[in-house]
Amino acid sequence: MQWWRGVAGLLAAAGVLSWSTASQPQRVAVGGWHLAAFPVEQFVSYTSPFGPRGDEFHYGLDIAAPEGSYIRNWWVGQVVQVSQDGYCGTTVIIASGRWRHVYCHLRGQPRNIRGVNYLDDPGSGLVIREGQWVPTGARIGRVGMTGRTTGPHLHWGLQYDGNWIDPALILRAMYHQRQAQRRTG
Ligand SMILES: [Zn+2]
Repeated sequence: MQWWRGVAGLLAAAGVLSWSTASQPQRVAVGGWHLAAFPVEQFVSYTSPFGPRGDEFHYGLDIAAPEGSYIRNWWVGQVVQVSQDGYCGTTVIIASGRWRHVYCHLRGQPRNIRGVNYLDDPGSGLVIREGQWVPTGARIGRVGMTGRTTGPHLHWGLQYDGNWIDPALILRAMYHQRQAQRRTG
């Protein structure tokens, strides 16, 4: 299944999208969204949208994918955090200008070597560490079950200037620009 097939349903399900928040991410990267990478290689489904969930707020989009399948970097940037906690599990955070993209529940764990945190995921073939620059679409980890999760998925969070953005808005912008490129290109 192609990742964009689920986008319309996901947006309809969310139902709470406001164009005042939607206009901001579209304005900041006009002309570039089609270059962004979808963050999982083996998309299965969207399992939980951004927004209120019970008595908490879900600050990201959950994307189910097979355990051990690769996660891809959404946009070229610098790894600013490799860490672990009880909710997000093993976490990689990448900074791209004013954006931060957060990847949770990864396989493996952080390991500190001479003051620098690395992602220790034996068998992945990856070397990911804080301070490293990673290109768009590069593999940055694998889908795991660390932290609070009932099944293998990527929790993908996006921040712009410190404000959480619904990743579905970005996926929609990526999809529309891809379609536009196809028509003109
Ligand atoms: Zn989540």
